[in-house]
Amino acid sequence: MKGIIGVIGAGVMGKGVAQRFAQHEYQVLLYDCDEMILEQAKKEIEKNLRCMNMFNKKIDVHHILDNIILVKDYKEFEKVDYIVENVPEKLEVKRSVYMELDKVCKTSCILMANTSCIPITAIGAFTKRAGQVIGVHFMNPVPMKNFSEMIRGWKTDEATIESTKVLLLDVGIESEVINDSPGFVSNRLSHLFMNEAAFLVYEGVATAQQIDNIFKNAFGHKMGPLETADLIGVDTVLDSLKVLYDEYQDTKFRACPLLNRMVEAGEIGRKVGKGFYKY
Ligand code: NAD
Repeated sequence: MKGIIGVIGAGVMGKGVAQRFAQHEYQVLLYDCDEMILEQAKKEIEKNLRCMNMFNKKIDVHHILDNIILVKDYKEFEKVDYIVENVPEKLEVKRSVYMELDKVCKTSCILMANTSCIPITAIGAFTKRAGQVIGVHFMNPVPMKNFSEMIRGWKTDEATIESTKVLLLDVGIESEVINDSPGFVSNRLSHLFMNEAAFLVYEGVATAQQIDNIFKNAFGHKMGPLETADLIGVDTVLDSLKVLYDEYQDTKFRACPLLNRMVEAGEIGRKVGKGFYKY
């Protein structure tokens, strides 16, 4: 075993992060405040690993699953070297988690914030170890994507950046390190596409499928903006737009009302089987 990684949040991203590290011989302690989601997460990781096996990848499913331990108490994180936090894109939720982690984690432990838009400097300020708080914007689906956007908060130490880079390279993930800014590079750009695409549906200009087809064929992208929104989770996209709007106070980030209605109706994308598309 190479080291112990704590993974907080077992939703779309937490499951992917847990699987990735477990596949590379790290012991993963996976936590979610919702016990049902936590139990379900391991079954879904197993399903995903079996699916990968069908594409000729020789994966020892049982061994990888054994590397993932489900934990129900923050005290379990006393011994970990790194934490990857994947709780919802809401400042208050992140604040409570970081305050708890700061109390239990050893002083050398590095806290990686997997956030879409929230500034890392703000997250670091929830702790007494801002030097060891770093943004790692993993790409979805994490087991398949070999790249991350790494964000240096105002107080993030160089040693934290170097150590995190080495860790991620060990699990096959390369990174581009950028300075702190809401939405970073990827989501400041991509959320404008997704939001504007939602407005096009809302205004009846085109269907989701037409918009995605035009986008893919016109620009050569693998996925259209609304397929991407469904993959991310419409709830997460909406939360991110709210962060961008609040941070920049710029109306270009005002969320399309259609996104609010979809979240209220629970039609939030792939993770529930319905969003802009049915799955
Ligand atoms: P998600 O809603 O799928 O999962 C979040 C999980 O956190 C849920 O299982 C929830 O039960 C759990 N949770 C809530 N409060 C908690 C708490 N206090 N302690 C522990 N667990 C808690 O969200 P997600 O898509 O996995 O996103 C997680 C983070 O990663 C967000 O900040 C998001 O912006 C970011 N992110 C998402 C994507 C994406 O494509 N979905 C990509 C990169 C980054």
